[in-house]
Amino acid sequence: MRSNGFVRSPWAGKICTVAAAALLTSFAGTASATTGGAPTPGGTPSAKGSPTGPPSTEPSAGTLSITSAQTTPRKSFYFGFRYPRLSFTIQSTQPQNDLQVDVVNSAGEVVRSFYRADVAPAVPTNIRWDGTMADGRPARNGIYSFRIGPQGIPVATRPATSSTALALSFSLYGYAFPILGTHEFSLDGGRFGAGRSGHTHQGQDVMAECGVPLVAARGGSVQYAGYEGNAGNYVVIDGKGTPYDFMYAHLAEPSPLQTGETVRTGQPIGIVGDTGDASACHLHFEMWGAPGWYEGGSPFDPLPYLEKWDAYS
Ligand SMILES: [Zn+2]
Repeated sequence: MRSNGFVRSPWAGKICTVAAAALLTSFAGTASATTGGAPTPGGTPSAKGSPTGPPSTEPSAGTLSITSAQTTPRKSFYFGFRYPRLSFTIQSTQPQNDLQVDVVNSAGEVVRSFYRADVAPAVPTNIRWDGTMADGRPARNGIYSFRIGPQGIPVATRPATSSTALALSFSLYGYAFPILGTHEFSLDGGRFGAGRSGHTHQGQDVMAECGVPLVAARGGSVQYAGYEGNAGNYVVIDGKGTPYDFMYAHLAEPSPLQTGETVRTGQPIGIVGDTGDASACHLHFEMWGAPGWYEGGSPFDPLPYLEKWDAYS
């Protein structure tokens, strides 16, 4: 799954030809119609999460109240363009306050804690969570909250609705649905394993109009971006924190990504097209298990994953 040692031009008649133009005849509207997918991000990605900081040895805080608190965005992706960011200010009876901000899952369990010493009233504090748990692993999909309070008080004993323990919810997902627009899964000839002349179909075809934006289902490093006669314009991404490689084919134009570049979950990777061996506009999407795409791994059926991401996007 690492990018070293990949084969530069490995396509050998492995991509689909899909006779599914009829699927699109019921589609109306423009390429910008959106029934799924993540919002198109802009600006620069979050470089990294905030440091957790050490807990204070003798924590001290006054009587606290939260005067403002906001979490943005309310939907984030692991290794995504925008990490969930809490911004808050306090009032307190003390000039300096040792605070603890917990990331709490929907079961009430703390998955990550941040410690901030000597926080002054009315001075904004920002905390950006990178979506990893204390042990470094990606957190599960779900609804999370930031919870702000004084250090030294177990989170379970804090009154969740009091001004000193405000909860701010947001959702975190491991993957984004890759098509930002109207789409339809090809459930016959575009299925993984469907017969082709001399081979079987190695991915899942998802019908969408040419021009609909595509985003990375999972960020990571760009293992390869280029053109091949069957795949057309295509890009392969080595998924950060996963054993998987992800391949997107038939892009209308060369991907803006370069081989070796870092890409974030939900970041634009190109637009739907019909380049290469394709008879209709669609995304040909492949997932490969370790060690990866043309590195000894094997493709597997990505449809259950696509359907799951589609359901929450
Ligand atoms: Zn295909």
